[in-house]
Amino acid sequence: MPLNACELEIDLFCRGLRVPDTVSLDGARGVSRTRAGLGSGLELVLPSASRLKKAIWVNVPVVEHFVASSPYVLEGGPAAGYHVRDERAGTAYPVQVPREPAWYDRPTSRGVPMQRIGVMQGTYLGIYVNKVCTFWNFEPRLNCQFCTTGQNVGDAEITEKTIADVVETCRAARDESGATFVHLNGGFQGSRGIESILPYVEAIKRDVGMLVGVQLAPERDFSRYDQLIDLGVDHLSFCVEFYDPQWFARICPGKARMLGQPLFFDAMAHCAGRLTRGAVSGEIIAGVEPLEQTLKAIDAITALGCFPTVCIFRPTIGSDMEQWPSPQYDDMLRVMRHVYEACRRHWIPIGAAPNIEVSIVVNPDDTALVADRTPGFYVYEAYRRSVKWLARPLFLRKGRARGPAIAH
Ligand code: SF4
Repeated sequence: MPLNACELEIDLFCRGLRVPDTVSLDGARGVSRTRAGLGSGLELVLPSASRLKKAIWVNVPVVEHFVASSPYVLEGGPAAGYHVRDERAGTAYPVQVPREPAWYDRPTSRGVPMQRIGVMQGTYLGIYVNKVCTFWNFEPRLNCQFCTTGQNVGDAEITEKTIADVVETCRAARDESGATFVHLNGGFQGSRGIESILPYVEAIKRDVGMLVGVQLAPERDFSRYDQLIDLGVDHLSFCVEFYDPQWFARICPGKARMLGQPLFFDAMAHCAGRLTRGAVSGEIIAGVEPLEQTLKAIDAITALGCFPTVCIFRPTIGSDMEQWPSPQYDDMLRVMRHVYEACRRHWIPIGAAPNIEVSIVVNPDDTALVADRTPGFYVYEAYRRSVKWLARPLFLRKGRARGPAIAH
């Protein structure tokens, strides 16, 4: 039986895709080693026949060591169209290879190519705004073992991004790529992470008007989150990564030593209490710690009224974990079914925001395609449709530029 779009997404994350030299990727979005390195794959759009979701964006691993034994191979070309062939059964899945945005090579007003400021990851714009995460500066290093930010910032992307760089890049992504959401992240910056990101949020809200998400290591002074929320930030996410404290400490030594795992959940709870339901998320990595711990993490995040974003572990080239195995499909399918069930149990309105498709994770609303069709499923789907419809005016209002403040 052919896989549906979400099953194929999960399997491609786990096994990767071989791209023969004979297949032209002219005009395709390049492999982009930015931020934590998760965008290191080839962006694909998987069409879906389901009414629940029409297309799924996925950033498929193509360079990591495990890809060499993948049964999936890319065929076709820019003129005839592409498909992914599963050589086990001979099944061919039609796919789209999104084109590189024309604005990528355009310079900002101070002459920096915009793709060194931000990159599209699915349909949203991702920008790493702060200096290199300081976990990379310790001796010995305290960086998370799966991360490559310390190698990418200053190389694939520029270290110092001015507010004008960011505003101009956001405007280009909104006007020419239809992006509605920009995600700003910045790793660990001591107690100065939020403080340094505030002017960017303010400028984007004033001059561009996109939905803005922020992801930083948690800070102990929660009034900083209140400042961000007062400026109009739309989404806050917290990278918990692992639930088991020992795995957390082993893979994320900096986070364990400098912050401690409980702070992630406390900050999440604080922000969830101040923002609308479903505006806060907890990010975890599946496929490293024992599966039961990943399921517990999903339960803990949804119990706070937040949604889980689950990255399927990718042993990214250049990371300390590049030789680790990629996760198993059956395990990841179980995780994604659990995501759906946990969101359903807690009435988290997943998929309500307009046009936000994240290619580096399995989006929570993708998981509807693999969920069991129980009576509860249909009730929750009706709820999700109503929330999406009712939230439209709110998102329209939030997505408008505020313009300069008028002095009285
Ligand atoms: S906190 Fe960890 S994952 Fe985030 S940038 Fe720093 S080292 Fe990378």
